[in-house]
Amino acid sequence: MAEQNNTPVATEKIKKMLERKKDKTKLSLRMCAHCTLCAESCFLFMTRGKDPKYMPSYKFINSIGKLYKKKGEVDRATLEEIGDIVWNDCVLCTRCYCPLGIDIPDMIALARSICRTQGVYRQYDK
Ligand code: SF4
Ligand code: SF4
Repeated sequence: MAEQNNTPVATEKIKKMLERKKDKTKLSLRMCAHCTLCAESCFLFMTRGKDPKYMPSYKFINSIGKLYKKKGEVDRATLEEIGDIVWNDCVLCTRCYCPLGIDIPDMIALARSICRTQGVYRQYDK
């Protein structure tokens, strides 16, 4: 993750980004039946002891789901927590499968984009 950033969170910017995919996000969150059927399609879940925090549904609900439920009104600590999920716990390989058709990678990618605009991202050159 980037070094400590004390810049205030630009919540208006986050709200605008959420608004662009509001319908899809809302539908995805409503549709999720918490059935865990997506879990075994994620290699990170399978290779990290089946730790629930690597379940695709956990990752999308606790990233974009959190941003959506808080309507973008998040503090930096929350953004950092979300950043840890979307940058460290998912590689956006797009292999996760939801029988209900939820586009989990797209939801996590949106959370990544939002984090990036607020300076919360992974630095690969360190
Ligand atoms: S994302 Fe799909 S497969 Fe995963 S828990 Fe939700 S409904 Fe089930
Ligand atoms: S996109 Fe993320 S959640 Fe989906 S299978 Fe790949 S690493 Fe797992």
